Amino acid sequence: MANDNMQNWVPRTELGRSVLNGSVASLDDIFSSGRIIKEPQIVDKLVPMLENDLIYVGGSSGKGGGKRMTSTKRTTRMHMSGRRYTISSVACIGNKNGYIGIGKASAKENRIAIGKAVENAKLNMIPVKRGCGSWECSCTEPHSIPMTAEGKAGSVRVVLMPAPKGIGLCINNEAKKMMRLAGIKDIWSKSYGHTSSHVNYSYAVFDALKKMNLHKVK
Ligand SMILES: [Zn+2]
Repeated sequence: MANDNMQNWVPRTELGRSVLNGSVASLDDIFSSGRIIKEPQIVDKLVPMLENDLIYVGGSSGKGGGKRMTSTKRTTRMHMSGRRYTISSVACIGNKNGYIGIGKASAKENRIAIGKAVENAKLNMIPVKRGCGSWECSCTEPHSIPMTAEGKAGSVRVVLMPAPKGIGLCINNEAKKMMRLAGIKDIWSKSYGHTSSHVNYSYAVFDALKKMNLHKVK
């Protein structure tokens, strides 16, 4: 389906036209010039190995206590004729090599909400600074992050810290998905606030990755 989209793609923005004719050849060109991606097909064309994952935002109470986590959240509003449902979803995309995006959307159906969230994530891509900022490791490979970074969304505050090689992802399961998509292998983290609201938690992690881009690293 993605290929069909590509073949019939008629760009509607200046940036879209220069991507299609090949004068803009990578996402780095776009980010360094500070231009904004307004068409998801731009990302499809420039990043062929794109993968996506869904953040578990919803849940239904299961048998024997606890909660069964689901990738879509169903909320209900009352209407004169009964209940109306809205499905919302948060998607995370990346190429496992330094780019990540996150997006959310809501619709009346699961499939449509997920599809819209993935498209929105493509419009919200950032480069991820990778490196080794760990004093215990001090190698030069990009297996972790170069410095400590902090992000916020709602009441949730997340601190990401560089970790030495072999530590793995010491972070919440939802953020693990994001780290894998970004291509980070080792990380330590701390979090504060209502971290069980996964929408805010994943957006706080994204905010921390975004803030790292404000620093200059050689
Ligand atoms: Zn290292």
